[in-house]
Amino acid sequence: MSETDSENPVLIAGAGPTGMTAALALHARGVPATIVEADSEDRDRAGSRAIYVHGSTLRTLERVHPGLGTDLVEEGLVWPTRHTKWRGKTVFRRTYDNPGGDGEIPHFSSLPQVTTEKYMHEALDEAGIDIHWDAGVESVESTPDGVHVETADGQEWETPYLIGADGGGSQVRKEIGAEFEGSQSENSFIIVDVETLDGNSIDEEPIPFERLFHYDSPNADGRNVMLVPFTGGWRLDIQCLGDDDPDEIASDEQMREFVRDIMGEEYVDNIKWTSTYKFLQVQADSFVDEHRRVLLAGEAAHLLAPFGARGMNSCVADADEAASAIAVALDSNEAVARDEVELYAARRQTAAEYNIDAAGQALDYLQGDSPVTVLRKEAAASLADYFEPAGEYLDDAPYGPHTPPPIASTGRANY
Ligand SMILES: Cc1cc2nc3c(=O)[nH]c(=O)nc-3n(C[C@H](O)[C@H](O)[C@H](O)COP(=O)(O)OP(=O)(O)OC[C@H]3O[C@@H](n4cnc5c(N)ncnc54)[C@H](O)[C@@H]3O)c2cc1C
Repeated sequence: MSETDSENPVLIAGAGPTGMTAALALHARGVPATIVEADSEDRDRAGSRAIYVHGSTLRTLERVHPGLGTDLVEEGLVWPTRHTKWRGKTVFRRTYDNPGGDGEIPHFSSLPQVTTEKYMHEALDEAGIDIHWDAGVESVESTPDGVHVETADGQEWETPYLIGADGGGSQVRKEIGAEFEGSQSENSFIIVDVETLDGNSIDEEPIPFERLFHYDSPNADGRNVMLVPFTGGWRLDIQCLGDDDPDEIASDEQMREFVRDIMGEEYVDNIKWTSTYKFLQVQADSFVDEHRRVLLAGEAAHLLAPFGARGMNSCVADADEAASAIAVALDSNEAVARDEVELYAARRQTAAEYNIDAAGQALDYLQGDSPVTVLRKEAAASLADYFEPAGEYLDDAPYGPHTPPPIASTGRANY
């Protein structure tokens, strides 16, 4: 059995959504935890990023820190309408009377990641969990009995378990000798945050309060466009064509033109953040070290395209399951403790594989130069006027399958 106490807490590398959730989930299980973070406290976390927080994630957060899930519900919004256009013409539109469902926790909440993180920080304060800023992990040495960690602020830590939640470039992953394996999307995607007009709440905007996907939009010179509302703004995704120069497409001048044509002249001065991506679809070849004392979680363990919103949602599921495994391991004999950590790795590797495959299906569909996909889309678009399921297929397909990974989890549909 390993010892942990406030002198010797479980150490978490990274104060992103994964690390903060892991700390709260450990605290909820009575396990002392501390976070070491590479950035400074006054850092700027730009961009809306993970705007779509699934109901299962909200329930997990509510469970590990009562009030956190419902705060994110209050801060977020639930758009009521799914709308899909094909080359300028509506092929599917459905509005729900009760889009969030009947429970206290809706099916999803749409809000910028920076707001989610703000509430996570508040929850950490309430729980009395420290973040040590300017303290990036530099080295990790694990043994069968625990982990020795050195951080950039010169501190040395002895901890029974280390959670590597230090994001895509994870130093912890490198230190335990794990490597990312996988692929990268062919096309680039431009992601733009556009603020709501002065003083408006989202449902007072001149553009409809809905999630819109537009195939081959004439307003973007034939590119696919997605527009999604979140608290305080709109997320505009533009999919580059194969021969596009993404930097040119994402230039200020070009972006202002796109925003004018897609959203309206009044929005051109409201562009807040623009970013260009090629999405990685990768996962670590091992989620744990050889001694089963270091657990990788969140983007330190896997990266995937955002279609289907499995990114941050799966990070929160990792964090909760890592905390659960560690809490049991700390109370168990050595062999059982090892098993618990291995079970964590097996479950979350299965989940990551499934999520990467699901996001990959969406990517293949969107990049879609396979003749079968192209034909299927064209056929669905021509049938959509008479046969609603054809339009619904076009509306659904850009997000991949709806199903969660095939592993039993607490709550429903954990990612
Ligand atoms: C454009 C975009 C859109 C997205 N959209 C969605 C979406 O719609 N839905 C969704 O679910 N997800 C989405 N995501 C994904 C989501 O943003 C990430 O999954 C999430 O931020 C990952 O959380 P994390 O805590 O694992 O990593 P991060 O948020 O990267 O946090 C890692 C933390 O570790 C710190 N760190 C780095 N190195 C060290 C070190 N050596 N030691 C200590 N700390 C360190 C970093 O400073 C950072 O604070 C999107 C991402 C992007 C980029």
